[in-house]
Amino acid sequence: MREVDVGQVTEAVARLAIEACTYLGEDVVDFLEKAIDRERSETGRDVLVQLLENANLARDTNRPLCQDTGLAVVFLEVGQDVHLVGGSLEEAVDEGVRRGYTDGYLRKSAVADPIGARKNTGDNTPAMLHTRIVPGDKVKIIVAPKGGGAENMSAIGMLKPAQGREGAIEFIVDTVSKAGPNPCPPILVGVGLGGTFEKAAYMAKHSLMREVGSTNPDPRLAELEDEIERRCNDLGIGPAGLGGTVTVIDVFIEELPAHIASMPVAVNIQCHSARHKEVVI
Ligand code: SF4
Repeated sequence: MREVDVGQVTEAVARLAIEACTYLGEDVVDFLEKAIDRERSETGRDVLVQLLENANLARDTNRPLCQDTGLAVVFLEVGQDVHLVGGSLEEAVDEGVRRGYTDGYLRKSAVADPIGARKNTGDNTPAMLHTRIVPGDKVKIIVAPKGGGAENMSAIGMLKPAQGREGAIEFIVDTVSKAGPNPCPPILVGVGLGGTFEKAAYMAKHSLMREVGSTNPDPRLAELEDEIERRCNDLGIGPAGLGGTVTVIDVFIEELPAHIASMPVAVNIQCHSARHKEVVI
């Protein structure tokens, strides 16, 4: 069994938090560059140019892409042939968040007692940690800071099975429509179909880790992603919500079988500051 010291996890989480908040992924940059030619609104084109300038400035000055550096969402895939040594894994992840947000001068956005005192935890902990045990002897770490503006526009619907495919599409497009300018478009639309209440929400979030422009390996879901993207762009929300043809960067769907009486549909919206970085140790 391969031993991995949790101190390595701490170091990786700290580094990835800073990198994710500072360097926009090449897939998103590529999308924004190409979208300028497709956007029919002059104001929309101006916004896209500014988003690219912002990404370049963040990269060149080592400063965050956005003032909202988010809650620290962390996905861990731990190989079942790994023996974690050196302390608690969850504490190691929190320590990585603490160090990354402190050393990187990233805004601490976590408040305890969320329906009461709302006192800042001071170090952006706890991490929003999702851990899976997978085959192998490696540990994959993804850090995905999630801002409040886009997260607040997300939704889950426990739809009736009779609402079917069209009902699911209407729920997703309606969620994007109600969100309007609030989640800082252009946006990614992460969708979780089926499963249970919590699994649908997890899938919607996890789907956002996919590369922009990638094709869903399931042709049925790939076609559904294209249809949702087209119908969301037809809303005319546009860059920054100022009107235009480019509202959506991409749509990603993950799916599980559902209960015979249920049809959960979760929508997790992600702004253009689509931040996630990963490493395998
Ligand atoms: S939605 Fe995204 S880009 Fe907009 S303020 Fe929040 S983190 Fe920043």
